[in-house]
Amino acid sequence: SNMSRTAGRHFLQIPGPTNVPDRILRAIDRPTIDHRGPDFGALGRRLFAGLKPVFKCSGPVIVYPASGTGAWEAALVNTLSPGDRVLMSETGHFATLWRGLAEKLGLKPDFLPGDWRHGADAEAIAARLGEDKAHEIRAVCVVHNETSTGCTSDIAAVRKAIDEAGHPALLMVDTISSLASIDYRHDEWGVDVTVAGSQKGLMLPPGLSFNAVSEKALDAHRTAGLPRAYWDWTAMLKANETGYFPHTPATNLLYGLAEAIDMLQEEGLDRVFARHDRHAEATRRAVGAWGLEVLCLDPDRYSSSLTAVLMPEGESADRFRRIVLDAFDMSLGSGLGKLADRVFRIGHLGDFNDLSLAGTLAGVEMGLALAGVPHEKGGTQAAMDYLAEEARAAVKET
Ligand code: PLP
Repeated sequence: SNMSRTAGRHFLQIPGPTNVPDRILRAIDRPTIDHRGPDFGALGRRLFAGLKPVFKCSGPVIVYPASGTGAWEAALVNTLSPGDRVLMSETGHFATLWRGLAEKLGLKPDFLPGDWRHGADAEAIAARLGEDKAHEIRAVCVVHNETSTGCTSDIAAVRKAIDEAGHPALLMVDTISSLASIDYRHDEWGVDVTVAGSQKGLMLPPGLSFNAVSEKALDAHRTAGLPRAYWDWTAMLKANETGYFPHTPATNLLYGLAEAIDMLQEEGLDRVFARHDRHAEATRRAVGAWGLEVLCLDPDRYSSSLTAVLMPEGESADRFRRIVLDAFDMSLGSGLGKLADRVFRIGHLGDFNDLSLAGTLAGVEMGLALAGVPHEKGGTQAAMDYLAEEARAAVKET
């Protein structure tokens, strides 16, 4: 079926890359300009100013033409030295990949074990920092929204744990699947490096990633000893003032980024977060009505950008996803790492509305029937009932 044309739009309901709205596609579809010319400087300065409210930060934001993995590496090589200990929490597949990257760079990660069904354990972080009387741990690294599990971590609680331990470690947070989808506050939560990517809540194609940087991170940068060249913040920091990049920037993606910032500002970040919360709640009601289980076990930490659903024992999640793709032209997220074939993930983030969700859930429900997966009918209806209730409440307010 991949060979034949399918009428209508593909449903890209993986938890990123997300559907790119027409407005952003139109913005990208413009002539590439001279990145040393006057128009570019104006665009660059507008971008750097516009990014700050998205991260809720007052310091510089570094923009790389790279996937999120590049921004992970940049955060570490700019602030740390060979052999430094870093404290990481095993929230899932992405936390595990970040740890692997740290090891390859010659850092010494302490990996706090987790069951991939909860967020990072702030108490365990506090305890480990408390034992580190010599302050050998140089950074605490946490994934805000673990895309492989659909569990978030409480960053304010992690900050509090570091402060209460009186520990000087840097705090680094991966917001690749939460920025511009789930409430996030770089300055207020005292984050030193925020890592982000373009292809999820920012509604852009893959290819840009970000480091938002605190004063304390800039201080660490001055003495950090890991080798760095392409990722070095130094040259990139100048771009924050001039609007010009040290290398050839991804010009057309930056047109898209300017449009994305405008769109987020027009909707208002609080409304963007409320919309994601609503779609996540509707999705969980559908999953419950189907008689299936949400992977995340902590209701306070449910992700608003995606929901991972456990398959009933003995059922293949990958077979189910293939059937949904073939029959209904919708891509769902696969289980990653040790969750391979055990879960499927519904992405409900980015440029997404009530009817996109209704269509997505209808595709899942029809797919469950088609694949012969044991379930109850009526999940999509349960979600629709909730969305209608919420819409009624919103009409009353206006
Ligand atoms: N961190 C998280 C939470 C992610 O979801 C992803 C990708 O999905 C990454 C890191 C890696 O980013 P990338 O694949 O853009 O390199």
